[in-house]
Amino acid sequence: MKILAFDIGGTAIKIGIINEQGHILESREVPTLAKEGGEALMNRLLMIIGEYKDLDRIGISTAGQVDHIEGKIIFASENLPGWTDMEIKRRIEEAYNIPTAVENDVNAAAIGEAYYGAAADNKAFLCLAYGTGIGGAIVENGKIYRGAFGSAGEFGHTITHVGGNDCNCGGKGCYETYASTSALVSRVMHDLCIEEANGRIIFKLLEEGNQDIKKIINDWLFEITMGLVNFVHIFNPSLIVLGGGIMAQPYIIRYITENLPKYIMPNYSRVKIVEAKLGNNAGILGAAHMAIEM
Ligand SMILES: [Zn+2]
Repeated sequence: MKILAFDIGGTAIKIGIINEQGHILESREVPTLAKEGGEALMNRLLMIIGEYKDLDRIGISTAGQVDHIEGKIIFASENLPGWTDMEIKRRIEEAYNIPTAVENDVNAAAIGEAYYGAAADNKAFLCLAYGTGIGGAIVENGKIYRGAFGSAGEFGHTITHVGGNDCNCGGKGCYETYASTSALVSRVMHDLCIEEANGRIIFKLLEEGNQDIKKIINDWLFEITMGLVNFVHIFNPSLIVLGGGIMAQPYIIRYITENLPKYIMPNYSRVKIVEAKLGNNAGILGAAHMAIEM
């Protein structure tokens, strides 16, 4: 089986040809050019699909909330303007008559990790991705738990500080306003009056023994851990997979593994915390797997 998979983000689209065993036979990246709008993006996808021959399935992982049955976008933020309501599955199947699966990017990444990555021998786990916000997916029996209306797993918008920071969802005190990578970066820039910071710069300062940075990072890791305490008590998972570029810093997983057990009840403490394994291939692999399973 030959599957063409896309992972559509705000800045880049990852494209891969994947076989039934989950091997990536070829891959490349093109800019999303999101500013040109949703219709232009859709037309570019259709054009790219036309470049390939003998496809059996198409799998699409995309930013935004997805109706995976209809294969359309329920809501996309301003990172992908004009993407809301796009009927991706219908447009592709009408143009090429190739069965197409469409899935939200965090769900797709979780499925990728479930079948080919960090959770490969574990079919019931949580997957959280830390970046600008915090996305999440709940996997049970190798499938995404979706809830009644398809949107379960918004860990980033659970409230960890009542009446706290304003969040772009309209709420106050959401987990992601304290525990996302962006939250760490803005606090470092604010507290240390640094004009530009990112994960790499911050952890380099930590390595150099900067004590102010260490305090800020540990505060941030405490916020991450407190969220996980809630999720562990709700889901009783055996595994939590943490994704997002920042998780490549071994200090993070070490801190959480050491500290989480102090705040959870003893019978929950068998939970393992691991870093996502597939990096930015998780989305195309998960999308391909969902296309295979259609
Ligand atoms: Zn929120």
